[in-house]
Amino acid sequence: MLLDIYIIVLLFVFGLVMGSFFTVVGSRVPKGESIVKPRSHCDYCHHELRWYELIPVLSYVIQFGRCSKCHKKLSLIYPLIELLNGFLYSLSYALYGFSYEMIAFMVISSILILVFVSDFEHMIILDEPLIIGSVIILLLKLYYFGFKTFTTSIYSGLIMFVFMLLVKLIGDKVFRRESLGGGDVKLVTFFGFVFGVRLSFVSVVFGSFFAFPYAIYLSLARKDREVPFGPFLILALLIVFIYMDSIKNLLNMFVYGF
Ligand SMILES: [Zn+2]
Repeated sequence: MLLDIYIIVLLFVFGLVMGSFFTVVGSRVPKGESIVKPRSHCDYCHHELRWYELIPVLSYVIQFGRCSKCHKKLSLIYPLIELLNGFLYSLSYALYGFSYEMIAFMVISSILILVFVSDFEHMIILDEPLIIGSVIILLLKLYYFGFKTFTTSIYSGLIMFVFMLLVKLIGDKVFRRESLGGGDVKLVTFFGFVFGVRLSFVSVVFGSFFAFPYAIYLSLARKDREVPFGPFLILALLIVFIYMDSIKNLLNMFVYGF
């Protein structure tokens, strides 16, 4: 019990640090900026942050959410994202203990955070996290479930890729504009690696369902027709992952699920 709490706290702190790293990657890399330069600074006065101003969440709280130099309000989004990542990392252990599911859940959480930052801010889903995430998931499959599951997962990813590509190509033709981003296609390929075909489809349906109100809001309030679909997709993936067993039962699906 005490060990469990210790591990959960440790994972929380680790999640905060990684979350902080992800916000930097997600907001800078799509703009073609380096992760290390320029050093992190205040957006208003460009005051360069020192190490004690870079501690995830804590610095924000100590400085009452203001820049130490110009005292302008700092965005609350970043500490919230760090907290969310910390929470998800500790949740992974609380839900699954040390297992395939725990690591897979952490990988999905990390991609969730990255996609949130980069797709909402820049309408871009980065390739690198998806590639790294896919490799980790596939290697885990190989290690925990053997070669057969490993190859099935690869096929599933390819099937989802082809399916989404077809949807995109047909959609582009019908609507005469980009219907689905290339990032969304790659993201759903990752779903295939994680889930196999059937649960990937469930996730895509859930994701579209979540995105729908936001799409309506964008088209009404901002006359904006481009919807960042990625965050909703990956959120659906995480939820389907948590309720995987119930959903599988509900669909009365095949015996072993990956
Ligand atoms: Zn400042």
